[in-house]
Amino acid sequence: MLTLDAHPSGRHFLQIPGPSPVPDRILRAMSLPTIDHRGPEFGVLGQKLLAGIQQIFKTRHPVIIYPASGTGAWEAALANVASPGDLVLMYETGHFSSLWHKMATRLGVKTEFLSLPGTDDTGLPVTWRNGVQADLIEKRLREDSSHQIRAVCVVHNETSTGATSDIAAVRRAIDAAGHPALLMVDTISGLACADFRHDEWGVDVTISGSQKGLMLPPGISFNAISPKAIEASKQSKMPKSYWAWDEILESNKTGYWPYTPNTNLLYGLHEAIEMILEEGLDNVFARHQRWGAGVRAAVNAWGLPIQCADPAVYSPVLTGVITPAGVDADAIRRLIYQRFDMSLGMGLGKVKGRMFRIGHLGDCNDLTLMATLSGAEMGLKLSGVKIAGSGVQAAMDYFMAHPQQSGLRAAA
Ligand SMILES: *Cc1c(COP(=O)(O)O)cnc(C)c1O
Repeated sequence: MLTLDAHPSGRHFLQIPGPSPVPDRILRAMSLPTIDHRGPEFGVLGQKLLAGIQQIFKTRHPVIIYPASGTGAWEAALANVASPGDLVLMYETGHFSSLWHKMATRLGVKTEFLSLPGTDDTGLPVTWRNGVQADLIEKRLREDSSHQIRAVCVVHNETSTGATSDIAAVRRAIDAAGHPALLMVDTISGLACADFRHDEWGVDVTISGSQKGLMLPPGISFNAISPKAIEASKQSKMPKSYWAWDEILESNKTGYWPYTPNTNLLYGLHEAIEMILEEGLDNVFARHQRWGAGVRAAVNAWGLPIQCADPAVYSPVLTGVITPAGVDADAIRRLIYQRFDMSLGMGLGKVKGRMFRIGHLGDCNDLTLMATLSGAEMGLKLSGVKIAGSGVQAAMDYFMAHPQQSGLRAAA
């Protein structure tokens, strides 16, 4: 058995925006014996999973499941629809959109990276404090009268900043420009936390992963694909084999995969889908909205800036907290980890050291979030950050005044 340091008593607080805490029910499901991935039982499991996951993406079309982290599913999405030299229009909302952009470049597609210019009084890039501006996409597509742009790629929930972009608005922008580009959306951290509608919003490829809203360990990821994306994949010249949709779709018809799938993670996925559908997607979304509001009440009471500067796109999944200039946010996180056994998300890329992220997703409740905020507040104070007031009190007040509408225990 792998032993790290002496393990502290109680549970570690894993309050990063993914991996999120894995419910015991899912851990138990994953501990069942591994079965023959070509045997009869497996086909039943596979078909059930492939139908269930469609409900989570709100699609009637196929969802490909890869044994890979989310990054693999990003590559799969590009490799299946693009050809070398194609032009892809991407939008910079933060670190994850930047990584996807870097990947596209490495794969040999030409990219354009839209963004809002400049930095603001916090010193952070404005584009890392806002959601996708659909009007910029529409303007660029209108200029592309010869339809060189193959796809528009955006991140739904930008996990490095805490902004959840309006995907329906991006669809409307593409339609208003009368442009045939495919719409590709990363909702790796948005799925099963924030409302997402693959079919209704006309998304062609939706990319997601297991370790965020689905409450699973890392290791599986998804491409939900439209009929238009499947057509595009037949023309695509990007070299691919393992990621290619065609053979997977063929095997999936009977509930199998062309290679050995991630059997025990799929047990977990089966359990996660059941849990989420039992609760009801709308209840899941409302629960996350409410947590986001409670955590933001705390950050406002501290008097620290919420990284997302546009309240219309506040994320229900995580909240980015900007620390005062000259204070190393990573030192605060380190102190909180050592003193209170809690992990908070670090500032990534362009905002490293300038902010930390509080995850409020998946298998949490009001009291785990209150403990999380207590740990954060103690860490801020111990680090000498001047806070205006108690965020813990503000969040308690918010949660008391706004009872959760569903999923609570019945009165005795
Ligand atoms: C976590 C995440 C990724 C990366 O996924 P991995 O599973 O780490 O490969 C990409 N995009 C977003 C928005 C994410 O939150």
